[in-house]
Amino acid sequence: MGTINITIDGQEVKTRTGMTVLEAAQSAGIYIPTLCADPDLKPYGGCRLCIVEIEKMRGLPIACTTPVTEGMVVKTNTPTVNEVRRANVQLILADHPSECLICDRRERCGPLDICLRNVAVTERCVTCPKNEHCELQAVVDYLGVTEIPFRRTQRSYSIDDSNPFFYRDLNKCILCAKCVRVCDEAVGAGAIAIINRGYSSKVAAFADKPILDSSTCVSCGECVAHCPVGALMPKENKLPTEEVPTTCTYCGVGCGMYLGVRDGRVISVRGSRENTVNNGFLCVKGRFGFDFIHHPERLKYPLIRKNGKLVKAGWDEALGLVASKLGKYKPEEMAVISSAKCTNEENYIAQKFARAVLGTGNVDHCARLCHAPTVTGLVQSFGSGAMTNSINEFRDSGCIFAIGTNTTEAHPIISQEIKRAVDNGGKLIVANPREIDMVRWAYLWLQHKPGSDVALLMGMMKVIVDEGLADQEFIDERCENFDDFKKSLKNFGLDFVEKTTGVPKDKIIEAARIYATEKPSAIFYAMGITQHSHGTDNVIATANLAMLTGNVGKAGSGVNPLRGQNNVQGACDMGALPNVYPGYQAVVDADIKRKFEAAWGAKLPDKPGLTITEIVDAAGTKKIKAIYIIGENPLLSEPNITHAKEALEKLEFLVVQDIFLSETAELADVVLPGVSFAEKDGTFTNTDRRVQRVRKAVEPVGNSRPDWQITCQLGQKMGNGGFDFGNPSQIMDEIAMLTPSYGGISYRRLEEGGLQWPCPTPEHPGTPILHTQQFTRGKGRFIPLEYKPPMELPDKNYPLVLTTGRSLYHFHTGTMTRKVTGLNVLKREGTVEINPEDAARLGVADGDMVRVSSRRGKVTARAKLTGVSPVGVVFMTFHFAESPANMLTNPALDPVAKIPEFKVCAVRVEKA
Ligand code: SF4
Ligand code: SF4
Repeated sequence: MGTINITIDGQEVKTRTGMTVLEAAQSAGIYIPTLCADPDLKPYGGCRLCIVEIEKMRGLPIACTTPVTEGMVVKTNTPTVNEVRRANVQLILADHPSECLICDRRERCGPLDICLRNVAVTERCVTCPKNEHCELQAVVDYLGVTEIPFRRTQRSYSIDDSNPFFYRDLNKCILCAKCVRVCDEAVGAGAIAIINRGYSSKVAAFADKPILDSSTCVSCGECVAHCPVGALMPKENKLPTEEVPTTCTYCGVGCGMYLGVRDGRVISVRGSRENTVNNGFLCVKGRFGFDFIHHPERLKYPLIRKNGKLVKAGWDEALGLVASKLGKYKPEEMAVISSAKCTNEENYIAQKFARAVLGTGNVDHCARLCHAPTVTGLVQSFGSGAMTNSINEFRDSGCIFAIGTNTTEAHPIISQEIKRAVDNGGKLIVANPREIDMVRWAYLWLQHKPGSDVALLMGMMKVIVDEGLADQEFIDERCENFDDFKKSLKNFGLDFVEKTTGVPKDKIIEAARIYATEKPSAIFYAMGITQHSHGTDNVIATANLAMLTGNVGKAGSGVNPLRGQNNVQGACDMGALPNVYPGYQAVVDADIKRKFEAAWGAKLPDKPGLTITEIVDAAGTKKIKAIYIIGENPLLSEPNITHAKEALEKLEFLVVQDIFLSETAELADVVLPGVSFAEKDGTFTNTDRRVQRVRKAVEPVGNSRPDWQITCQLGQKMGNGGFDFGNPSQIMDEIAMLTPSYGGISYRRLEEGGLQWPCPTPEHPGTPILHTQQFTRGKGRFIPLEYKPPMELPDKNYPLVLTTGRSLYHFHTGTMTRKVTGLNVLKREGTVEINPEDAARLGVADGDMVRVSSRRGKVTARAKLTGVSPVGVVFMTFHFAESPANMLTNPALDPVAKIPEFKVCAVRVEKA
């Protein structure tokens, strides 16, 4: 982009080709009034307030749509432009309610020193809650508008308060169309539009119904955040007295946000524009899902089981009991289950406690249940099991191949980025058995059968090789074992692939050609790839495909596993895994072990411990006798919950540390109250390896304590001096000292924004793209694959396939989101999504209660008839304790990653 020199109001301004006059003025700090321009949106030119005079141009050009040209001379504040602007504002005011202009703070909004309702100007009657933040008021102030020379009209729309989080008062709407544009251009929901003409023009949801009835509104609140006046307002509309920058606690996208605090409570959330992950955007959970922080059911003090009941206890008693009990078991009889919801510092402390205090290698967390194959697969292929690229690169990708990811539901802000890529001309290929929302943007939809991913991917790779579309130079220079891999392709003739996947040959060929030629091509995947008994093979197949076409190590390309929970990447990085110390340093490496023994002053276990699924099994056989669970709820997240419950009930001692009395906590002998993300300091590492700060905004509720502090106090009580940390920043310093990929990370540096690992030294800028020059393991390794079907296929007794996943409105086991009233309004119960054809055969109508049975259990839930589910496949989410899908799922494990096959099991559905 070339530099362009222009003059604005006599000031010389250096700007760039492609910028508009408005952007150039704003970059130079020159105010031009506008009500419809927005940096998040395409230029619109609707409000006509940003008109300016430009030498050698006729009329009054609009600054927001006029591109800068060399030598341009602009005047923004002349009597002519201001006269026209005033007339435009007066027209807007002619049918705008004027409550805001007659409040008792006339000294601030005084320019319109009139009362259009004949209310005495001294009377307090501020009815517009936007009052002090209204952009219309600011423009009125700037232009000095003091009268409305036009006949006033009064709109009388009823207020739409159907959405649980915000209301719409169209009487205050100025028709700037920002809400319509942000909903369409940025969110991609297209839930609202301007209808009618002239004075009847208004913003309406589908069929002019209340917004909650709009089929595509996702309640993200971006329309509210972008509304310049008081037409769209959050229902909680008090203004915060303080805003604290932090990172979202829900999914792995890691959106930056400000928690608004007033009177010691979090009352609002605002997206952080400076954060390049989300650029200010948030989804419904991030923006509105914070009620749980102050929910009355929060655990406020420790509980100890006495005579079969959990009763209130003091910290000394509870910690003393835990320390004395845990001190009695042998290391191999104990386990620690850490949490992807907790901070890096807390996970580091949890695994250090397990290894250095309890002396056990039995430490794991829920990554086992979501992305273990990402680590086991990508480490074999690339040497590093993490997302290769950065979220903000993908808008320029030529092809996005999204397989096994329901991105709009599980990673909403990344789905917006994918939609931007499509807007920019990129081709989206969606591979998913269900007709998920992303299919609306797809150039090509491959509707493969659940569990047939390896066949589909190998079929595409065979086409690429056969048609000479492989990047031979990349393969020769950067990879190894290609010939062996190539031989394994011969088993994937298109007839076999079509029969196995159910995808027509011509679509497989087209997908292969697009992916191989529309570079850079990026692969996205999530748990649709990993949660299989062959999840590691699935992940390896994606890596093979990327290497085959040279789509690794370049911007906008790569293999990009989308991590589910806020800090699942960080919990893995911190070594809350049975086989590695922090930074994936192998437990079996004697030098590494010596390093940690020296640093922690303790003898450490010699071999890898048990995984979470093995820990639960070992509890069932009484080999494991005591478990310390931090922030996890295995009684909803484990497969075959009945078995998991029976196993945990056999424990001699169970400690659960959480913020609510979860299903698992109800079984515990001791419950320790931790705190939410809003009440502590720390860091999360998001899906693109970005370490970001979490900051304390409010005091812990009741007598609860940060998890790092509780575990440190236990460590100290059990006689280990390595837990004497005063704050999480000191823990991060120890992490950096022992973890090469975090070596350059410190709280001081994180003040400037997130850092992506590897970041080995204090001077290192972080690594947005992995494997640019060579793979972490040296050469990328092609691995031959064969097709393996799911472990349990439909049969006469269980004729349907059950697949599970997430809902946009809830998170994981619902511990937090089920405590948010509004989210429960948006999705109040778990449903069984079933194709109308299957439903008709079973005599089931929409809304009927149905019983879903598998070989492991039965669940009753309401049927939702939808073509999203293909014939023969039913879908359930796993958030709801009342209809726990994991009562049904198959615990069959991937032999390498030990992840259960959550995504495919055979079920029967009957009317309940
Ligand atoms: S809440 Fe989000 S999806 Fe709904 S209308 Fe507003 S911008 Fe669109
Ligand atoms: S996309 Fe994920 S990280 Fe971002 S606001 Fe939503 S839940 Fe939070």
